[in-house]
Amino acid sequence: METTRFAPSPTGYLHLGHAFAAWVARQLGHRMLVRIEDIDGTRSSEAFTQAILEDLAWLEIAWDGEVVRQSERMEAYRSAVESLQSQSLLYPCFCTRKEIHASVEAPHGPAGSIYPGTCRERTPAERNRLVREGKPYALRLDVGACKLPPLFWEDWNGKRHTTEPYRFGDFVVARKETRTSYHLAVVVDDSWQGVSLVTRGKDLEEATHAQSVLQHVLGIAPPRYLHHHLVTDKEGRRLTKRDGDTAIRLLRERGWSPERVWAAVERGLGRPRRSVTGT
Ligand code: GLU
Repeated sequence: METTRFAPSPTGYLHLGHAFAAWVARQLGHRMLVRIEDIDGTRSSEAFTQAILEDLAWLEIAWDGEVVRQSERMEAYRSAVESLQSQSLLYPCFCTRKEIHASVEAPHGPAGSIYPGTCRERTPAERNRLVREGKPYALRLDVGACKLPPLFWEDWNGKRHTTEPYRFGDFVVARKETRTSYHLAVVVDDSWQGVSLVTRGKDLEEATHAQSVLQHVLGIAPPRYLHHHLVTDKEGRRLTKRDGDTAIRLLRERGWSPERVWAAVERGLGRPRRSVTGT
């Protein structure tokens, strides 16, 4: 039995791309879960969460079980962080975003600049001093200390992908403001919810490198992945929440039917929806 999930961040209204992502998850999951990724307390809102659930219902995409909110799962993330700490795989990073960007050695990775490892080199005494001084810090995974065997992930079609553990450098597992991160929360929750197939857009395929590393160090069996085609605008650009004119909400207000929405999704995909899932 395949368990999939649709995991929107409630920082805006669903757009045509989300509608397609939800449809893929529904199409391939015998059990399809909805998880609200609201760890970013400043950008997420309950109003957007409610709007997302309402739009899904209007699109006739039914989900299974209770909606899970990541903001209610902080305890689980804390214990995952503790497990990594007890393996001495984390270090506090006091750098600001600006400092990292300014660093001349920083090669540019998929997530902006790859962290050059400045805080990895600090002595325990220095770290303690900075913590005592109240300097805010994130926790980064010391990827070099993870002693990783070759890692792989498998996609829905059975193709094996090789994990590149250093793709993101020493990535953040607990942010300064929330004691978790996107990667950590996704890995912990996909496992806890029994997700067997992660369906998400190709724009998130790179994230799988980091998530594969985390699965290994947390002793989590990896799910399979389907990184699907993206719905793009007329110029072939990926839709973002700023592209308000593809918001399902707005299209509904303009009197569109769900059928019309699906037709627009297929135009944006450049192919029939079913050709993606083979269903
Ligand atoms: N919450 C993420 C987003 O809205 C998706 C996370 C995932 O599918 O791994 O882009």
